[in-house]
Parts: sequence; C-alpha cells; structure tokens
Amino acid sequence: NGSLVVVGTGIRTTEHLTGNAIAWIKASDKVLYVVADLVAERVIKELSPSAESLTVLYGEGKPRGETYHAMVDRILDSVRGGQRTCVVFYGHPGVFAYPGHLAIERARDEGYPATMLPAISAEDCLFADLGIDPGHQGMQSYEATHFVLHRKRIDPTTALVLWQIGSFGDHTYRREGASHHKLPFLVARLCEEYPADHVVTIYEAAIYIGCAPRIERLRLGKLAEARVTPASTLYIPPVRKSRIDPATAAWLGSEPADR
Ligand code: SAH
Repeated sequence: NGSLVVVGTGIRTTEHLTGNAIAWIKASDKVLYVVADLVAERVIKELSPSAESLTVLYGEGKPRGETYHAMVDRILDSVRGGQRTCVVFYGHPGVFAYPGHLAIERARDEGYPATMLPAISAEDCLFADLGIDPGHQGMQSYEATHFVLHRKRIDPTTALVLWQIGSFGDHTYRREGASHHKLPFLVARLCEEYPADHVVTIYEAAIYIGCAPRIERLRLGKLAEARVTPASTLYIPPVRKSRIDPATAAWLGSEPADR
C-alpha cells in the first residue's frame, strides 16, 4: 500500500523541522532526501537510518531538469513498490522546488495517496531577518533566470525577490556553483527599471543555530562583482511608493489612508 508524503526541513533543520514532519519521517518505510547541509542529513538519518539521499542523481554539467525527472522516477518506484514513502527537501518542499509537486501529481494520477506538508522557506527567513512585510507594499517573487527569460513585468513600487541568482543563466548543475559571467545580463535588465545606484540586498539565511545571516547591501550596478553563492537570494526594495487612485477610493467609499 504505497503512499507519498513530501516534507521540508526548513532552513535551520534543528530549529525548523516540525513535529509533524518528524513523525512522518519516523513512520515511513522509505525516506528519500535532498538537503543542503550535513546537520540536516544527520538529523534525517537519526530519525530514519535507512534514509537515502537523492543528491547522487545530480551530475556535473547535467541539466537540472533531467535530474528532477530522475528524482521523481526514483520516488515513484518506491511508492509503486508498496512503501510508505517520505521525501524530504530543505526549506519548504514546494517552494522553488519542482520535483515534490511533480511526484505528488504522478502518485495521485496512479491512485496513491500523496500529500505535502508546509515548512519554512528561505523567503520566510528573509521576511524575519530583513524586517519586510510582503503585505506592506506588495511583493513579486521570481526565479532569476525565468524572470529575465520571460521579461516579467516589474512594478518598481513593489518589493522584488529573485531566487537562484547563484545559478543565473545556467540550467545545468555545478557542484561549486555556477560561474557568474552572466550576471551582467541580470543587472542590465534590472537597470531598465531601477537606477543603478538603487541599494539592493544579497541575503543568505543562517543555516546553523547561533550563526548570523549574510545581509550585504550594495548598489544594483555593483551586483555582478559581488560574491554570489547557491544560497544567495536578492532583495530589491521598491524605488517609490504607489499612490491611491482617487476615483477608486471614492467608489469604495474608503478614507484615503496612506497605505
Ligand atoms: N525550497 C527552498 C528553495 C530552493 S531553491 C526553500 O523553501 O527555501 C534554491 C534557492 O533558494 C537559492 O538559489 C536561494 O535563492 C534560496 N535559498 C536557499 N537557501 C537559502 C538561504 N540559506 N538563504 C537565502 N536564500 C536561500
């Protein structure tokens, strides 16, 4: 009676792993995981000694899309083999992490029960560490390469979060992280909408308890020269405030409050 549950470790596993995720990891016949640090790996192995890493499926220079499909195949093999299968991803398992969603979809198509549990993502840590409320001026959030390739529209009165700037323009996997020679394309695209001296933040949440996050503020025009890693997320604050539209305010009959 195979089944699938997809869970996340959060960013700092020992602090963020939920009781519910722990219970599923312990109760499952087979645990498969994709995590980015050794503490997370140790915690999972303690809860389930037979747990197996799926990171072996990454290959140097191999397209990440190929790896994701290999992961989904491996997960589905376990479910079809009749095992109660738990897959663990770091962060939130369904945020900028496509194999978990795909595995659930496939499992359900084949008639197996499949669910995902929420967890703490890098963006959740960003809100806390940078003191940003996405409800204040609104927020856009994109994968950096997707954002440029699709020429997504930018609203400069809204905060912008760009994920995976460390592998910008590279669809293959590199153990040491991608080379950053394509970052100038990202900067050029952003400079169509923002002044080059707009101050942006390179953000890296601490992954271990007691460590400080990396919060590096720099001018947008200098981004291509900055140190960017696989854990870097870019935060771009709004350049100006949006205004209330008077006709809409009149129609809603609302007081033109400042927010
Ligand atoms: N599922 C993960 C995200 C995986 S995509 C989550 O829920 O957070 C990988 C991207 O996440 C990285 O390129 C980076 O943009 C972001 N990320 C991962 N670890 C991070 C960290 N410690 N601090 C800030 N951003 C991080």
